[in-house]
Parts: sequence; C-alpha cells; structure tokens
Amino acid sequence: MKTIGLLGGMSWESTLSYYRLINEAVKAQLGGLNSAKLILHSVNFADIEVLQRAGDWHQCGQILGEAAHGLELAGAQCIVICTNTMHKVVEQITQHTSLPVLHVADVVANALKAQGIGCAALLGTRFTMQESFYIERLQSHGLSVIVPSEIEQKAVDSIIYQELCLGKIVPSSKAKYIEVINTLAQRGARGVILGCTEIGLLIAQQDCVLPLFDTTYLHAQAVVNYAINSQ
Ligand code: GLU
Repeated sequence: MKTIGLLGGMSWESTLSYYRLINEAVKAQLGGLNSAKLILHSVNFADIEVLQRAGDWHQCGQILGEAAHGLELAGAQCIVICTNTMHKVVEQITQHTSLPVLHVADVVANALKAQGIGCAALLGTRFTMQESFYIERLQSHGLSVIVPSEIEQKAVDSIIYQELCLGKIVPSSKAKYIEVINTLAQRGARGVILGCTEIGLLIAQQDCVLPLFDTTYLHAQAVVNYAINSQ
C-alpha cells in the first residue's frame, strides 16, 4: 500500500471526513486492522481564505506547493488536495512536487460517466461555480455542466464559508440547497456534483431527487484504489 499525502485543513471539518472515508475504504478492501498509510499537512484555513478573497492565488499556490513538497520529503507517494476550490492552483502545486496529484474533477467526471450521466449540476464555492478551472476540466471529459443562478450561487457560497466550514449545520440552509437542486433538475441536470468537500455534511442522497456525486467520498475512494492497486 502506498503512502497518501493529504493537503488538508480547507476546512478541517471536511479533512476529518477524508480521514474517516480513506480509512474506511482501506478497511473495506483489506479488512482486519488495516488502516491507511497517510501523511497530513493541515493549513490554517483563515490564512488561505484571506488570500482567496484578496485574489492572491499565487500565494495560495505557493503555500500549498511548499506543503506538497514537504509531504514528498516526508515519504508520501501521491497527493490529494482535500478541497475542490484549491484545484484552481493545481498546476502551481505540481511544480513543487514530482508526485502524482489525483485531480478531484477527473475523479467525479469518471463517476458520472460510469453512471451514464452526461449533464450534471455543479454546487461549490463561487470560485468553483464561476471560474473555468473546474468546469472546463469536467467539460474535457465530455460532460455538460449547469450551475445555479447568480442569486442561488451567492446563497450556496455563503452557506459554505459562513456555516459548513465552521461546523454549523443549519436546517434552513439544507432546505435552500434542496430547493436549488430541484431548480437545477428542472433545468435538465441528471446528477448533482457536490463540488465542495463540506456539502456532504449538510445534505445526503435521501434528501434529493437527483443522484448526488459527493467529491469527498469519491476522491477518498479513488485515492485508496490508487494506493492499494496501482503499481
Ligand atoms: N472545501 C471547499 C471546497 O471543496 C471550500 C473551502 C476552500 O475554499 O478550499 O471547495
């Protein structure tokens, strides 16, 4: 089994989910007392969020690139960026390490294709829903992507940063997400990408009319498959 390097803390609420899901997947595959070999570099999310808001993505990439380099020196054999948003700087991160980085959008695109879904709704931070770095990566797999309206995007984004990343689970916010998903279903989406690693803390499959593709869950499964089964 390979040693997994996690870039986490964005937020730590979802890094906890990654840690649990990765270990559960190792146990499911190998059984008994088997658990994941992993190294975590957890950043201070307050520092990152300030840089995001200021648009200083270069500094974000520098911090995460240096962290990835540190994971490599510490013995990690692959890198997982435990946030969708920070894949905005994946190229800069890969410049600091020779390790493979398992891109979350590739993982979720493969899961959608495996279910025969060609048109998916995307929920995430404003950066993920509005900018090209994530949507174009999905489109490169032949998928079409629908995002919420501008007003809905504001609500989806502020629930992420002001509630979910702070560990707050608010019933009215869950209702808001379900309302947004229903609208996206009417607009033609056949599945919903939970393109932010905290959204799975708020909504579950039984809440929704469309199949959900939770990037945290899928990313964790994919890296465990890589760690156990790749040469
Ligand atoms: N965890 C979130 C994501 O998956 C948002 C936090 C961040 O800005 O990194 O995009």
